[in-house]
Amino acid sequence: KQRFPNEPEYHQAVEEVLLSIEDVYNAHPEFEAHNIIERICIPDRIFTFRVSWVDDKGKVRTNMAYRVQHNNAIGPYKGGMRFHASVTLSILKFLAFEQTFKNALTTLPMGGAKGGSDFSTEGKSDGEIMRFCQAFMTELWRHIGPETDVPAGDIGVGAREVAYMYGMYKKLARENTGTFTGKGLEFGGSLIRPEATGYGNIYFLMNMLKRKGITDLSGQTIAISGSGNVATYTAQKALELGGKVVTMSDSNGYIYDPDGINKQKLDYIFELKNIRRGRIKEYAETYGCKYVADDTPWKEPCTIALPSATQNEINEEDAEALVQNGCIAVSEGANMPSTPEAIEVFLKNKIMYAPGKAANAGGVSVSGLEMSQNSMKLSWPKEEVDQRLQHIMASIHDACVKYGTEPDGYVNYQKGANIAGFMKVARAMMAQGIL
Ligand code: NDP
Repeated sequence: KQRFPNEPEYHQAVEEVLLSIEDVYNAHPEFEAHNIIERICIPDRIFTFRVSWVDDKGKVRTNMAYRVQHNNAIGPYKGGMRFHASVTLSILKFLAFEQTFKNALTTLPMGGAKGGSDFSTEGKSDGEIMRFCQAFMTELWRHIGPETDVPAGDIGVGAREVAYMYGMYKKLARENTGTFTGKGLEFGGSLIRPEATGYGNIYFLMNMLKRKGITDLSGQTIAISGSGNVATYTAQKALELGGKVVTMSDSNGYIYDPDGINKQKLDYIFELKNIRRGRIKEYAETYGCKYVADDTPWKEPCTIALPSATQNEINEEDAEALVQNGCIAVSEGANMPSTPEAIEVFLKNKIMYAPGKAANAGGVSVSGLEMSQNSMKLSWPKEEVDQRLQHIMASIHDACVKYGTEPDGYVNYQKGANIAGFMKVARAMMAQGIL
């Protein structure tokens, strides 16, 4: 904390991992001899740069931008780009750190990275977004490549932004090898990539529930936050398996629909968020349900909670409310959505709790599969990608059970995911010497 002051999110993510690997670390003196902790926590390198672009009124604007290349012990740097006014270096360092362990869990050869800018897409025209993405890429292109660093999307970076960035990258790098994932299907994207994080989270959830003898979501009331990429596809798969989704949100508030968000209503949300780029409040106006401004949905009754918006969106009080209302499982679509105090509450009450680095790894997994397809210059059918995704989520689940099962049989998925990810990266680093 003294070395990197004013980086609370980064400290939070590092502390969470270090606490859960303590026993394993102490049992392996070779980790200490290689100073693995410092080397695994401090990013390999960080690029920081200014992006200058011209808005629709002809005014020259600037934003700060970053790429954190955290660790490449097991493969090329890989991780998304976030465009949001709240972006800081601390947030990107936490995300890159998490990404390293998440990618290790996927079974695919990918290191960890993250990047982005404090540029907000909200209220910007299509032309402004294109000019920003192009300006961003004129700097970043020299630091990435198919065998070095492969970016993707995240908050504020969807198919449109990826396409603009990839277009400029290709022009500058003079190659067409797919140095970006989440691309459009017409130019190297993979089927199921848009769906992958949300679907993957539900597949992980089903693996957890299966251990309790639950094989579908009928009878389950599900609270979801967010209404972006992860949230909408999570809802879609949850509906397919018979669940009743009662909440969704955006950064202004949440809607609570006790009748359930059915397929038709979900189609409305897809159109609202992706085409009209409107606010979730309009759902409440259209369907006559409750809308609560400036709050998160966690106090509404549910049996399953799937946070899919942003970091630290479930605090201790929310966690207490979830447990009191009969929630049996929390599976994180977002990265680090639960505060350390909230996680304490879940673990103390022994409810099923899946941390983001395990539960939302489906997105980067299919990104890895997109890279494989690009390398082979072919495209797999939907069924094949989906099957591979299901297989990967099951193997991540099994790794968590292997390392996280406690003497009373309770599976601490947080501990399991952290140990499994850490062991793989640490061993790869030791094998390759001091770098
Ligand atoms: P999107 O930009 O598509 O959607 C984000 C959603 O969360 C929007 O509804 C947004 O509301 C809301 N949101 C963003 N910031 C805040 C905030 N500060 N407070 C409340 N709500 C907020 O992003 P994604 O769906 O891609 O990402 C959601 C989460 O999932 C992130 O934590 C991301 O890191 C994680 N994730 C994403 C993956 C992917 O494949 N896309 C992979 C793995 C994890 P608004 O529209 O008002 O901004």
